[in-house]
Amino acid sequence: MEQSLAGRTALVTGSTSGIGLGIARLLAAAGARVMLNGFGKPEDIEAARRAVAEAGDGSLPPHSAADLSKPDQVRAMCAEAAETLGPVDILVNNAGIQFTSPVEDFPEEKWDAILAINLSANFHASKAVLPGMRARNWGRIVNIASAHGLVASPEKVAYVTAKHGVVGMTKVIALEVAQTGITCNAICPGFVRTPLAEAQVGPLAQKHGVSEEAALKDYLLAKQPSKRWVEVEEVARMALYLCGPGSGAVNGAALSIDGGWVAA
Ligand code: NAD
Repeated sequence: MEQSLAGRTALVTGSTSGIGLGIARLLAAAGARVMLNGFGKPEDIEAARRAVAEAGDGSLPPHSAADLSKPDQVRAMCAEAAETLGPVDILVNNAGIQFTSPVEDFPEEKWDAILAINLSANFHASKAVLPGMRARNWGRIVNIASAHGLVASPEKVAYVTAKHGVVGMTKVIALEVAQTGITCNAICPGFVRTPLAEAQVGPLAQKHGVSEEAALKDYLLAKQPSKRWVEVEEVARMALYLCGPGSGAVNGAALSIDGGWVAA
């Protein structure tokens, strides 16, 4: 792969699995020095570090165990990234959690956690890295939002609220950096094939008494006209483009990658 990010440093939150890991691998393959973040069993974190090392120049990337629900830990993670890798050129705010329940029953602690991790952490991390980006007149902030940042579904009040907030925050930051070499964009994926997302298929098939194939198409992917998963690699390629040198005129965008969900 073209070494378009050689010499750049990148912090990817929530990169011990799923979409974040896919993005970290492609950034490393493009030559960036990457810091990982996220939870997991020690062996899973080591496997993620090895996967990113293999995609890149072979050196094991540092990992921050910061809990992004805690603003102090978000700031400490950003400081650690700068100390370990050098000033952060690329910030990918990817970490996120989900919970489903009608509003009346929605637990307050779930509301607080989803807003803290999916929305406020993006604010704290962006605030921490922006001064350095301004000083160097170059930077890329990519927020992994969701189709649920643009349209709603019932029983996802905190997730939909947080992801709409992420899209709004993306636009504000984009306007504030519009005349610099910094950009801030959001990616809005539909259903992406990650282990957690795939784990929903079996229970859905059981619940509706249908095959897993039918459960996937008719229930889980019901809103996605393509009726197929978005692949992690597809989201990662969009992120790589937004992080690269050729996307400087793309700013404040909320790019859908959802098999037509939002268009429909
Ligand atoms: P995932 O569960 O595989 O990965 C989430 C990552 O976030 C993990 O590394 C996890 O350890 C980390 N994380 C969770 N809570 C954290 C915390 N408090 N502090 C630090 N790290 C924390 O999920 P994924 O499917 O890869 O999702 C990644 C992002 O993409 C999320 O923001 C999600 O909302 C968004 N998204 C996912 C889909 C999908 O279908 N998978 C669709 C649209 C948007």
